[in-house]
Amino acid sequence: MNQEKPNLSAHPTRIIPRDQHSVSRRNISKAALKVLYRLHESGYRALLVGGAVRDLLLDVQPKDFDIATDATPEEVRKLFRNCRLIGRRFRLAHVVFGREIIEVATFRGSGESGDGDSDGDRHIVDGRIVRDNIWGSIEEDALRRDFRVNAMYYDIADFSVRDDVGGMQDLHDRVLHLIGDPETRYREDPVRMLRAARLAAKLDFDIDPSASAPFAELAPLLQDAAPARLFDESLKLFMAGYALKSFRMLRRHGLLAPLFPATARALDAGDESLLAMIEQGMANTDARIAEGKPVTPAFLFAVLLWGDVRDQAQALIDDGTSPALAWQRAAHRVLANQTQHVAIPRRFTHVMEDIWILQSRFGQRTRKRVFRLLEHPRFRAAYDFLLLRAGESEELREQGQWWTEAQELPAEQLAEQLGPSSRGSKSAGSGTRKRRRRRGGRKKAGGGDQAD
Ligand code: ATP
Ligand code: MG
Repeated sequence: MNQEKPNLSAHPTRIIPRDQHSVSRRNISKAALKVLYRLHESGYRALLVGGAVRDLLLDVQPKDFDIATDATPEEVRKLFRNCRLIGRRFRLAHVVFGREIIEVATFRGSGESGDGDSDGDRHIVDGRIVRDNIWGSIEEDALRRDFRVNAMYYDIADFSVRDDVGGMQDLHDRVLHLIGDPETRYREDPVRMLRAARLAAKLDFDIDPSASAPFAELAPLLQDAAPARLFDESLKLFMAGYALKSFRMLRRHGLLAPLFPATARALDAGDESLLAMIEQGMANTDARIAEGKPVTPAFLFAVLLWGDVRDQAQALIDDGTSPALAWQRAAHRVLANQTQHVAIPRRFTHVMEDIWILQSRFGQRTRKRVFRLLEHPRFRAAYDFLLLRAGESEELREQGQWWTEAQELPAEQLAEQLGPSSRGSKSAGSGTRKRRRRRGGRKKAGGGDQAD
């Protein structure tokens, strides 16, 4: 183990005893407690760390529990049957309890190394940390974390909370400070910029000006971040119940462009209907998560990229490409560009393509086509998407209403209204108007929500 280094954060270490803080074992998962106790009983240090401690101090239920220890990953593995070692860049132990995974990381050293040097198993290239596997002391471990509020520890040995960096003060002030020099810390790992925006959105905290000032210059570094990691980060931004706040935070700080360049371009050019659609989509997703309903990231990604797909498809159609082919091509192009930045997996891009391509079929009202569309496995998602587009034009608003009503009707009645399958969309359209008059005053179902 490395020699202990002085506390570089310029904050005296504070040990807050059990009766002066609000972290209670009652709010820590059984699995995490098991791991903490087993490590402790085996003579190792064992502390809860990071987001879980931060959230518990804020009275928020943590999403996951991370543990820090002075046991090496191999030593951790020997203690737990249900343990696997993962990661090369950042080696750690996962202890698995059914669906819950407890991450156990060995204290990292601060590894002060020169540029382009490798120091033991810490490797830095152009200021970027590409490997970080030097063990160290708990003081050093605190300093390599990103934000002060993320660098506090709950010690299972005496139930105290340890604060080496002034995290308690920041929690109180509701502000995010980076630990150390902001520019250096962002260069080491540009994803920390996204984490700043995400945590500020999630916790309703401010980003201290010292931590947001480098964004303007350093945001482009995110273009070189691994697309798979940016996908994971996007899920945390948009699928954790605070998508709308995350989205606004990203935009405010110029961090949307490196993730979704086409979207940022369209919004910067003043596409108000796209902005309204995205914000409504995010708000709906947040509401569904709050109600415990299922959500798919494909829907939100489809919303984010809609402006680009629509414009590209229109350009192709104007050039004489058939609409069906134009939509397919546009969808492919937009996805090919986007996945260079954020690696959206196939299982989601397929759904996105369906949602987009189905949009052009809502205007077709022959009996056969209407029933085919209603039975399409992606109908519900595409229909929710259509409702979100209501702001684009009066025609689309009416289309949304027509399909809302079509779903409420028993099949025989709908079939009757649509007339024989050979009838064209024109007569079906007039049928719609008649029907709407008869059923006037009826409330629109769904309210622009996503699939149930
Ligand atoms: P959430 O509540 O969304 O889980 P979190 O802060 O717990 O937020 P995690 O990804 O679970 O985020 O990370 C756990 C802890 O690991 C963080 O609190 C922080 O101490 C540390 N950490 C995570 N990512 C980084 C990073 N990129 N650089 C430095 N430290 C990090
Ligand atoms: Mg966490």
